[in-house]
This record gives sequence, C-alpha cells and structure tokens, in this order.
Amino acid sequence: MISVKQDICYDSHCHLSPDINAEGYLEDVVPILSSQTWPINLMMTNHIDKQLLFSAMKDSTVMANRQIMFNVGIHPWFSHLYTFEDVDNIKDHKDFKLLHYRNVLDVYSRNRENPTEFDEVVRYLPFPFSIHKTVSEFRDILTNSEYRQRIDIGEVGLDKLARIPQSGYLGNPEYPGGGGLTNYKVKMEHQVKVLEIQLELSLSTCVDGIPKRISVHCVGCHGQMYGMLKKMDGKKMENNAIPAVVMHSYSGSVDNAKMLLSKLEKIHIWFGISDVVNLSRTDSGRLEKLMTVIRDRVLVETDLGIDRMLEEHGMYLRLIREKLVAMGVPEVTLLDNWREFVQEK
Ligand SMILES: [Zn+2]
Repeated sequence: MISVKQDICYDSHCHLSPDINAEGYLEDVVPILSSQTWPINLMMTNHIDKQLLFSAMKDSTVMANRQIMFNVGIHPWFSHLYTFEDVDNIKDHKDFKLLHYRNVLDVYSRNRENPTEFDEVVRYLPFPFSIHKTVSEFRDILTNSEYRQRIDIGEVGLDKLARIPQSGYLGNPEYPGGGGLTNYKVKMEHQVKVLEIQLELSLSTCVDGIPKRISVHCVGCHGQMYGMLKKMDGKKMENNAIPAVVMHSYSGSVDNAKMLLSKLEKIHIWFGISDVVNLSRTDSGRLEKLMTVIRDRVLVETDLGIDRMLEEHGMYLRLIREKLVAMGVPEVTLLDNWREFVQEK
C-alpha cells in the first residue's frame, strides 16, 4: 500500500515537462521514479510523454516502487492533435491534415485575424493521431496491465481560454521554446467530444469494482464541465461503482464547488490545489472562503514537471501544505484526504 510520510506529504498531480525527451527521461526521470519515497500521481501530458510513460508502466523495475501512480489521458491543450476519423483509409494526407485542423481550430479573437497565421500554425502540427486507437491503447493498459490498480485517467478536461502556441503545441521538438501564442484555440465542440470519450472510458475500465480516478483540467467553463459530470453521474455504473473525479488546480467559484459537492450523487469530487495556479495567483480571502467548503476534499498538488523540480519537489509540497494550513486546512486533513482518495481508509 502507498504510505504517506508525515513530513513530506504527497503530490496528487504532477507531470513530466512537456518538452521531455528520451534522454531526459533516462537521465532524470527513471532515477526519480525508482527512488521516490512518498506518493506521486503522475499525469500524461501529450503524445511525447505517452511513449515514455507507457514504457515506464511496462518496466517492472520502475513499477516495483509502489509510491508511483500513473495516468493516461489527452489533455485539452493537445486535443487538436486527435481525429475521430479512420486515419488508415485517408488517401490525400496533405488535404486531410489541413481539413482536420480547419475543423477543430477556431480563431480566438475576430479582431486579430491574420490570414497567413493558420498556414503557419499548421506547418508545425503533425498529421493527426487516431483518437480511437489511442483510447484503445489506454483501455488496454488500464485493464490488462499487472499494475492496473495504480493506473488512472488524466489529465483530461476543457479549457476555454487556452490558445495554440506558434509551435502548434507545447513541447514541439521542431520548434524549441514554442514561440508566442497564436490567435487560434481548439473548438469547444471538439474538446467536449475528446473529454466525453475519456469519461466513458473511466466507466468501463473498473478494476476490482473500483472505477478509474479521473484528473480533470477546467478553465473558464465550469458550468459546462458541471453539465458533463452531471450527465456522467446519471449513467449506470459497473457494480454501482463510484468514480472519483479530481478538479485539479481548481479555479471555479465557491458556488460551483458547492454544486459539485451537493448535486452529484454518485461521483466523488476532489479539489486539487497547487501553488502555480491557485495559491500564488488567487487572493487569499477568496481561497479561505473556498477552503471552508472544500476542506475535506482538498488534495495537495504541484502541477509541475518532476524532471524540472528534481530535489526541490519536497520543498514545493511543503510550501503548498504550509499555505493551506495557514488558510485553515489542518495538516491531518490533507493527509486523511489523500488516504481516502487512494482508498486506504
Ligand atoms: Zn496538470
């Protein structure tokens, strides 16, 4: 069982950096994964770290460390890279690629339209990946891996405000640095479809009667997210199982949090709080009010790359824990919440 060291805590949501490569993985990540002494819940970020995480999940030396929990999922910032079409039967690849990105991307602001920008963005974008193939790889590892109890779904979600970088996607090795942000975003309609297929996946990949936990990113569209979770909540679950959904780096209102906690009958909602997105950016009065509502559902998270934080990982967690304690969430509650989340209670 995963155990929590009182002095260090746990990280309920972290990543590999988006520009990680195989070399960085072998040099920095493998040693961390093997020697990690407190629990970390590692998210999949994009198609690049998908390969690395899949190799880690199949590596018995890495998986021998029971402190590591893995997740598979398509993050909304990368959802445009996926198509619902059957990519094996495409005749004209160049045409198909253009058409796909025209269908899933939308201009962010009509006032800033620039006729040449679309072609510039598409230049760096890959031929789209099949979402059905990807989800079936997810399903396979979620249900058939010998370590399936420690593999969940994340990071998935919706983002109304995110814009596509000039590199087409964050971490594109062909465009180091990523350039600035373009006037393009992923259409909400497409993001919803990508999220829906992954919410469905969680309902059909229960292991020992426990559905997969889902780590959700939601920016600027909490009402819409609530609607999708409500729809999921109404569905019949395998063995009446109760899925756990983490609203990671929760940025919604106090009222929205109340609604998620009181109006969803089957889904257990958790709220991840980080320093990068929440504690260092939101005013403390608002956060204190939020804590009175979500106290027994708060999980500590960094939302950062473990290969960037390296030995400072523990320090970041202590900082978040101290800030949450100052806002009235007792340390023991933060630990109890984690134990309940991983079903150790
Ligand atoms: Zn994240």
